[in-house]
Amino acid sequence: MNSTKLIWLNGNFIPWEDAKVHILTHALHYGTSVFEGVRCYNTERGPAIFRLREHMTRLIYSANSIKLTIPYSTEELSQAACDLIRKNEVKEAYIRPIAYYGSGKMGLNPRGATRDVSMICWPWGAYLPHDQVDLKVSKYIRIDPRSSIADAKIAGNYINSILASQEVEGTKYHEALFLDFQGNIAEGPGENFFIIKKNTLYTPSLGTILPGITRDSVIQIAKHLGYSIVEKQLKLDEAFEAEEAFFTGTAAEVVPIRSIDDRAIGTGTVGPITKQIKDYYLKTVHGDTPEFHRFLTWV
Ligand code: PMP
Repeated sequence: MNSTKLIWLNGNFIPWEDAKVHILTHALHYGTSVFEGVRCYNTERGPAIFRLREHMTRLIYSANSIKLTIPYSTEELSQAACDLIRKNEVKEAYIRPIAYYGSGKMGLNPRGATRDVSMICWPWGAYLPHDQVDLKVSKYIRIDPRSSIADAKIAGNYINSILASQEVEGTKYHEALFLDFQGNIAEGPGENFFIIKKNTLYTPSLGTILPGITRDSVIQIAKHLGYSIVEKQLKLDEAFEAEEAFFTGTAAEVVPIRSIDDRAIGTGTVGPITKQIKDYYLKTVHGDTPEFHRFLTWV
C-alpha cells in the first residue's frame, strides 16, 4: 500500500508512522468501529472529494448506531478531509475516516472506552481491476437486519463480506454476490447491484443492504440520462433474464458484470447502457459534468 505523510487523529495531524493504537483497543477485540470509504479525484480545478458530506453524514449515522458519539460535526469532518488532502499534497486518493472505541475498558459493553476519530488518505487504484466481472452467489447470506444494523458501516458487520470474498479468492470468479435471508439479491461484499432490462434500471430496495452513495449517484445520473429506475426486491432469475448488470461502489466505481454462477448476463459483453452510465460517472467524479458539480467538494 502507498503511504502518505500525515494522518488526522482526534483533531491533529501526526506522521503516518506514529498513528498507532493500544492492543486493548475495544474495536480490535469486538469490531466496534465504524468507517467510510471516500474518493478524491483530480479535476481541471484541482482535487475534489466526491459526495463528501454524504459520506460524513453516513459515518455519523453508523457511529450513532453503536452509541459512539463523534465529537465533530459533518462540517468539521469534511474540513478535516480537505485539509488532509491538501497537507499530504495528493491529487487523487482514497480517504478512510474511522471512528472507534479505544482502550481503557474491556468486556463487550464499550461504555468507558475512549472514543477516537481518525482519517487517513492514500493513493488507491481500481478495486476490481477488470473490464467485466464474473460473480459467484455466496453460500453466506447478507447479514440479516434482525441480527445487526445492516445499513451502517460497522466494522464488525464486515466479517460477512470478508468471508464471502475469501470464498471466491483463488477461483475463476472475481467477486461474490449476496442473497438476503429471503433469497432476494442483496449486494456484493462491497458493492451495490443493478440490472437493466428494456431501458429500465432495477436495483434491490433498501433494507438489508448498505445504502450506497455510488448507488444514489448512479440513480441520479441514470434519471438525468432519461432512464427509469425501479427499486424492488429482485430474485436471481430476474438477473439471469437481464440484458445488462453492474456493480457500484466508491472503491469499485461502476463495474460491468459478465456472469453470475457461470450464466452470462445478456450477451456477456459490456452493455451499452452500462457503458454510458460508467462513462458518465467517471466524467462526473472528474468534474466534467457541470450539472453534477453539487456532488463535488473542491479542496
Ligand atoms: N455495499 C457494501 C457492503 C459496501 O461495503 C459498500 C462500500 N461502502 C457498498 C455497498 C457501496 O457503497 P458506496 O457506494 O457508498 O461506497
